[in-house]
Amino acid sequence: MDGVAERLQFLSPGWTDLLEILVVAFLLYRVLLVLQRTRAMQIMLGVVLLAFLYGMSRLLGLILIRTLLEAAFQYGAIAMLVVFQPELRAALARLGRSRMLRAFQRLEGSRVAEEVADAAERLSRARHGAIIAIEQDVGLAEYAETGSPVDARVSAEMITTIFTPFSPLHDGALLIAGDKIRTAGAILPLTQSSVKDRSLGTRHRAALGLSEETDAIVIVVSEETSQISVALGGRLERDVSGQRLRDVLAGATASADAPVRTATA
Ligand code: ATP
Ligand code: MG
Repeated sequence: MDGVAERLQFLSPGWTDLLEILVVAFLLYRVLLVLQRTRAMQIMLGVVLLAFLYGMSRLLGLILIRTLLEAAFQYGAIAMLVVFQPELRAALARLGRSRMLRAFQRLEGSRVAEEVADAAERLSRARHGAIIAIEQDVGLAEYAETGSPVDARVSAEMITTIFTPFSPLHDGALLIAGDKIRTAGAILPLTQSSVKDRSLGTRHRAALGLSEETDAIVIVVSEETSQISVALGGRLERDVSGQRLRDVLAGATASADAPVRTATA
């Protein structure tokens, strides 16, 4: 009996097992986040499909397909390393980023928030329409492809200049990542949900759409009503004050449950 109990000991998990499970789960989560950022997800799906094909060819005894897939996997692993070299490097660099740098980035984050809020207020006063998306954990690279690349430090002046009517880049959305304006004139996905309010045009639907697909904070200035609205997590908060906008930007996650307000104008 003792022998059996000993052999089954691996079934009673200790705290180290729990620790390991937590660490591995966290690492997997981070890896998935990185994959989502780089659109490597589609390639992962491809790999899963190939693995499935391989399993089938083994089951059914399809020797030629099996041999071909085996060869593909052997060289494919090396090819992946080469293809994803920039992403791997970025991921490793992120892993090693120092605490001080993070603290510095938080400071930069509050500067960016202030500049964006300032820009939104100025645009609202001037009645210039605008849509600004601020990247969070989910990368916005795939939406950036639809616009013109910009590499400028975030400043209220820069943002208001871009959204000045008839400026070549005023159409479409501005994408901000970190402390940089990355893209102007990006086309965002329109929300699929039916928006009841007729006063909400495509700009507001685009803000909602992106906030449904990603965790970005999307700020809209309406050229029709000059109101500032914020879309986050598939919700649109309308007619926000400058102070409210600053609060949302400061604590992006805290505002996710904010009630949807209807327009007064
Ligand atoms: P406003 O209240 O400012 O009029 P709206 O919600 O009524 O906004 P529209 O008048 O339909 O929106 O569109 C205004 C502008 O919104 C367009 O000129 C364009 O710059 C921008 N826009 C429209 N669709 C998108 C989109 N899918 N992605 C990014 N920007 C968009
Ligand atoms: Mg309109």
